[in-house]
Amino acid sequence: MKNLKELTTHSISLIFCDIDDTISHNGKIHANAYNALWKLFESGFTLVPVTGRPAGWCELIARFWPVHGVIGENGGFYFRHASGTMKRFYFQSVEERESNQKKLAEVRDKILMDVPGAAVASDQFCRQLDLAIDFCEDVDPLPASDIDKIVDHFHSAGAIAKVSSIHVNGWFGDHDKFKMVKTYCENELSLTWENANSKAVFIGDSPNDEPMFENFKLSVAVENISEFKERLTHLPKYICNEKGGDGFTEFANTLIASKKEN
Ligand SMILES: [Mg+2]
Repeated sequence: MKNLKELTTHSISLIFCDIDDTISHNGKIHANAYNALWKLFESGFTLVPVTGRPAGWCELIARFWPVHGVIGENGGFYFRHASGTMKRFYFQSVEERESNQKKLAEVRDKILMDVPGAAVASDQFCRQLDLAIDFCEDVDPLPASDIDKIVDHFHSAGAIAKVSSIHVNGWFGDHDKFKMVKTYCENELSLTWENANSKAVFIGDSPNDEPMFENFKLSVAVENISEFKERLTHLPKYICNEKGGDGFTEFANTLIASKKEN
């Protein structure tokens, strides 16, 4: 990973970004990072957060934040609020989502029995597609061996599982964040992935961002990626000096400055 200072490209106009521990910092979005979102928007960048956070949160983000749209629940859907209308796009039908929720309830019960200290994430009631198990947001941090156990439970049920900085998210279906990024580019930006990739950057912080680190020509992580380096096969190209929202602010300032130079 190169230091962000070495980033010299001037061709970026499209930003996909993780939220937790990338824009947020110690569980809050601080003024500098929220301001950075607005500065990017006002500088003409197209911004699309890509998150494991639930549908209920994404409804607010799409409506209130200075974003083009938002991809939520690890790529299960995107929401876009444009011209006074909320568009909600899902890979799965309503029936598929309902049937998958029943299967996830069985996995949930097994995890809670087998991993003391783990809990269903407090934002689960806002979710439509996945099950989020908290290992350090509202519970005392669990050791890596317990995180692995949670992941194993999802896998043995035939579900996908991804580890973020706070939750293990599991779901049935073959979607992931990157698949939905490509669909978003085609549906909402009228861009093939090849064309989008030549002007896009992704910024994230943890293993559940790996499909993006692998597929974006240009990818960045905030400094806290260092904690997860051993879990990653595909590292981002650049790393910020600062953690979380401070790193995101550093990233935003770098992009805005390089745009002005051009
Ligand atoms: Mg994150």
